[in-house]
Amino acid sequence: MTLRAYGPTASFCPRCAAALSVAPPTDCAACGYRLFVNARPSGGVIVLDGGPGELRFLALRRAAQPRAGRWELPGGFCEGAEHPADTAVREAHEELGVGIVLGDLVGMYVGEYEFQGETVPVLDMFFLATLGAGKITLDPAESSDMCWFPLDAPPALAFDTMDSAIRDAAHRLGLRTVTGPV
Ligand SMILES: [Zn+2]
Repeated sequence: MTLRAYGPTASFCPRCAAALSVAPPTDCAACGYRLFVNARPSGGVIVLDGGPGELRFLALRRAAQPRAGRWELPGGFCEGAEHPADTAVREAHEELGVGIVLGDLVGMYVGEYEFQGETVPVLDMFFLATLGAGKITLDPAESSDMCWFPLDAPPALAFDTMDSAIRDAAHRLGLRTVTGPV
């Protein structure tokens, strides 16, 4: 039996460790703890470059699981009570080695994230952004490669929420997207 600590298939109580007989949301039969499962928030960025007609966005190749080897947008999970906009700036700086200038929120997207044997719901928030001054230096623990892709012809990205955000960003900027191969 696989022990799952979080998500719609959590199998034990996080307070007293008793097995849960019913999937959350539920009350632990042993201690009464009420377990809710919510989407985990994250913040990410669509870093843009180029002028009208040649807008490109920055994608990173994932170095770590899940979805290692797939293209993704810079970003990550919120820490504690961190605002997703602050998360987007922090994660971009950690992954790119340079600061970014954050723009408008593109949208909020519900998806799933598979990690540590669990599938947890996520709420991904993506923002437009541009690069600050300096040269990109990837963190090899996070990313093995980078590429600028046309905003209207993106590859399939690591997570569905990212595909949706790119489509919405392109639409907002007056483009139609044709998704290419992975
Ligand atoms: Zn309990």
